[in-house]
Order: sequence, then C-alpha cells, then structure tokens
Amino acid sequence: MAETPVMDRLIRRTVEQHLPLNVHFDLTYRCNERCVHCYLDHEDYGEVTTAEVKAVLDQLAAVGTLFLTFSGGEIFLRKDFFELLEYARQLHFDVSLKTNALLVTAERATRLRALGVRRIQISIYSADPVVHDAITKVRGSFERSLRAIRFLKTQGLQVKIACPLMKQNLTAFRSVQQLAEELGVPYILDLTITPKIDGDMTLLALRNTGHDLLPVLQDPVLNPRVKGGQEVMQSVPAVGSAVSSGLESSAYDDIPCSAGHNSCYISPYGDVYPCVQMPMPTGNLRQQRFEEVWYGSGEMRRVQSVRESQLPVCSTCSIRQYCERCPGLAQMEGGDLLGAYERACELAELNARLAGVEHPVSALHQQQRAAKFNGTFSAVLPGTGSIPGLVRIAPMRAT
Ligand code: SF4
Ligand code: SF4
Repeated sequence: MAETPVMDRLIRRTVEQHLPLNVHFDLTYRCNERCVHCYLDHEDYGEVTTAEVKAVLDQLAAVGTLFLTFSGGEIFLRKDFFELLEYARQLHFDVSLKTNALLVTAERATRLRALGVRRIQISIYSADPVVHDAITKVRGSFERSLRAIRFLKTQGLQVKIACPLMKQNLTAFRSVQQLAEELGVPYILDLTITPKIDGDMTLLALRNTGHDLLPVLQDPVLNPRVKGGQEVMQSVPAVGSAVSSGLESSAYDDIPCSAGHNSCYISPYGDVYPCVQMPMPTGNLRQQRFEEVWYGSGEMRRVQSVRESQLPVCSTCSIRQYCERCPGLAQMEGGDLLGAYERACELAELNARLAGVEHPVSALHQQQRAAKFNGTFSAVLPGTGSIPGLVRIAPMRAT
C-alpha cells in the first residue's frame, strides 16, 4: 500500500540524500525462547553497554534517523531496556518494538504506553498452543504472549502479529488470521526462513516448498495478485517480510530495497550492517562514529550504488514484477549481492502463474536451461561449444 504524499516525499528525500531514516537496533541476542528457525547465536559475547547504546542513539539523532526499531533476541531481557527506551523517546525517535512479549506484564504495558511506543510486533506461530510452544520450545509461551497482547491492546497500543511460516506450522495460517481478527490486530505471514547469521544453511530445511505454499499463495484475501483477489484491509500486505519496515514508495523503484540507502541494522556488539538479512560488516560503533560508517564505508557505498536496472540477470527477467528478491539473501544463499537466487525465482514463478501469466520462467532459470541445453550439444559434438540458433529450433518448454 502506498504511503501518504508526505511520507513518500520523506522516503524519496532520504533515499536521494542517503539519510539513515530507519534503523533496526538489536539490543541483545539473548532470548528466553529457543525457536527452531531462529538465525541467531544467543550467547552474550559482550553486548553494548547502556552508555554505548545512548551514545549511538545520540549519533543517530544527529544524522536524522526518525524510525527506530528495538529488537533482539528478547529486548525485555536487558535490565536497562526501559532506560534505553526512555532515552530514545527523549531524542524524539518514533520507536517500534519486536518482542516475544513473554515478559510483558500489565504494568510494563502501561509504561510502554506512557513512553509513547508506536508499535509492537509479536511473533505468534499458530492459534494452537501446542504448535506454537513446540516452535518456541517454551511450554506456556503461547498463553503468555497472548495475555501480553491483551495487556498492550488494553493500553491502546498498536500491536501486530508476525507469523513466520515453516514446515512445522504451515497449516496454521488460517487460524492465525482468525486469531488476529478476534484480537483486532493486523498480522503478517512471513514465508522467509533465513540461513543463520553466521552463514550456516541448515535452517533452510525448515522452509516449505513452493508447492506446499500454494494454499497460502492462492488465498485471494492474502494475495491481491491472485486473479480475482481482493486487497486485505490492513496497512501492509498480509504475506511479506516481517523484517521489512513496511514503508513503501516509488523512491525504491530502481533500487533493490531500502538497505544501505535509507535504512540499516546495528547488532548488540555495535556492528553496522545494511540490513539484518545482509550481514555484511561495514564498521563497528565501538571504534567509529555512526556517520563515519554510514558515509565512509566502502561496503555501504557498494550496496548503495546498486540499481535494479543494472542487475546482470534480474534486469532481464520477464517476471520481475512478481519477484521479491532480497539482495541480502541473494548474497547469503547465492553468494552474489547482484545475483538472482533460486528461492526468489521459485516464488516469483508461482506468483506469476497465480496471477494468470502462462508458463512463467525466471531469467535465472532461462539461463540455466540454456546452459544445460548448450552443454548437452557440446557433449554430443565435442569441440563445437554452444551452437547459435539451435535454441530457436528446439525451444525450451516452460513449466
Ligand atoms: S536486504 Fe532483504 S530483508 Fe533487508 S531490506 Fe532488503 S529486501 Fe528487506
Ligand atoms: S525471478 Fe529470479 S531472475 Fe527474476 S528478478 Fe527474481 S530473482 Fe531475478
């Protein structure tokens, strides 16, 4: 959904002027849940101190950051959490929180309201406590998170449910939809299961296949792109990325996403990345000031220079409009920030087919098929290499 004209102008200006409008700050990787799909290492290797966080917040305020998300790990495990929140609000940041809410009491909900927190995103994996608790590996976590949502709602706070969909809870999406309606809160179904932040790929085994995701992708309420679909009545689409800020604008049209352009990520150790899903070190706030990293890092500038129209494969793709390629995952999974990657192509082809495109094939898959085809002929006729024209004689069949 498009933003208001004022917000659109703000986004456009911050992209053009390379201002860090939106910062995601993980205050800790420690957690009181042990979710099966979590990409973090929960050990504490020396988190930023209270004074260090405050110094970073001062620097962010000075360079023009407006939207600040405190996340983790579990933010309420930091004993200084409310002190940091209060400090952030004194600096007039628009603050959102991501939490499992296990430690949110009625009294804490009141404090959050008094401090003027904008929005709180809480992960719920199913309306069935058994399924939810099996994913978090904490018995009773469903009931505690739900009770917290009610405390927060009673305070008039904006709450949003985020539901990452994996093999363990695929069929839960309708019940989560229903639960959100009963609670009167928006929700997002997130199909993204990422590698671990250290590059370990084992978590990808939890991903649903494209075929298994069909009931979700075919649901016309969830997916306005499906033929005959209807727009769901909430501020952001109901299927998407829970990492996303949800801010949309045509200013992002020729860039892969906001990462490194007007948003970035800060880890509990002070490392700055373009995005939590793009763990490419650009600097550390224990050694450098934020503006030195943001404006001076070569890696940050490299990310910032990328234009969609220059991507070697994706710029030629006929189904690009159906694709939600994440450059961070392209880097982590395919090893190339500028590259296409398999999962994005698979989902784009499914989305395009559901929108009525006949035989959609991504540019990556076209290249792979052409290479295989040419390889086959090279093998049959050693030394001939690829044979121009043969592809036209025997066109590839799109699936
Ligand atoms: S790197 Fe991926 S997750 Fe991060 S903002 Fe870009 S598209 Fe979204
Ligand atoms: S579908 Fe694949 S090739 Fe096409 S734009 Fe997306 S990632 Fe690139």
